[in-house]
Amino acid sequence: MIALEPLPGIARRCSGCGATTTAIHDHSPRRIRDLPVFESAVELVVPRLRLACPTCGPRLEHLDWLDPHARITRRLAESVARLCAVTSLLHAARWFGLNWKTVKQIDFRHLERALGPVDLSGVTVIAMDEFAIQKGHRYATVVVEPERKRVLWVGRGRARADVRPFFELLGPEGCQRLRAVAMDMNTAYDLEVKQHCPTAAVVYDLFHVVAKYGRETEAIAPQRTKGRPLLSCDASQRRATFQRGMSAGAS
Ligand SMILES: [Zn+2]
Repeated sequence: MIALEPLPGIARRCSGCGATTTAIHDHSPRRIRDLPVFESAVELVVPRLRLACPTCGPRLEHLDWLDPHARITRRLAESVARLCAVTSLLHAARWFGLNWKTVKQIDFRHLERALGPVDLSGVTVIAMDEFAIQKGHRYATVVVEPERKRVLWVGRGRARADVRPFFELLGPEGCQRLRAVAMDMNTAYDLEVKQHCPTAAVVYDLFHVVAKYGRETEAIAPQRTKGRPLLSCDASQRRATFQRGMSAGAS
């Protein structure tokens, strides 16, 4: 643990307006985690100053190395974010001895700063799919741009209302620009697409189309084979039919 003390009489910057002042309103000690030294955790006891700013009133002092209300130094947060880029949040949390949620927040803020808001201009084709989360108990939806191989949006749930925020984010112009939306056949996405993007073609996944075709033809097969054994239920008949077909094709 390292205790810091403020130097007296120096000009400090207000975190509200950026103006400098030497007047201190009050201070309270804060425990701040910093980078480890020789693999030992380091905690700083920082007298966090509130300045008597002529414009803002009592305001926290601006510090280059510590964000307002942060519990860890900026350089520790940057190290955590760098590690998160190559390993899981859990491993990064264990390595630095931090709470998993703290690490998650650090990683989230870093990604927000690094990537900024997603650019949806020029998107004309998208694909939507669901995936299981929380050990398959819940689902989430991902929207990707297949042509540029980008993830555009991820949201919890797979119902119509769950994917609505994406189309709201895309806006009326973006919705109008969409030419095609690819998706599975067993979702409610198509209804939402038709509502927001009536001019976009809904393209179903080939696997689901073939599977549906198989189910439909199986349902009508008994009517077409009236009076004959149900081929789908009789393996030996299926084999015989197949062999007859093969020999007919060969002759
Ligand atoms: Zn101020």
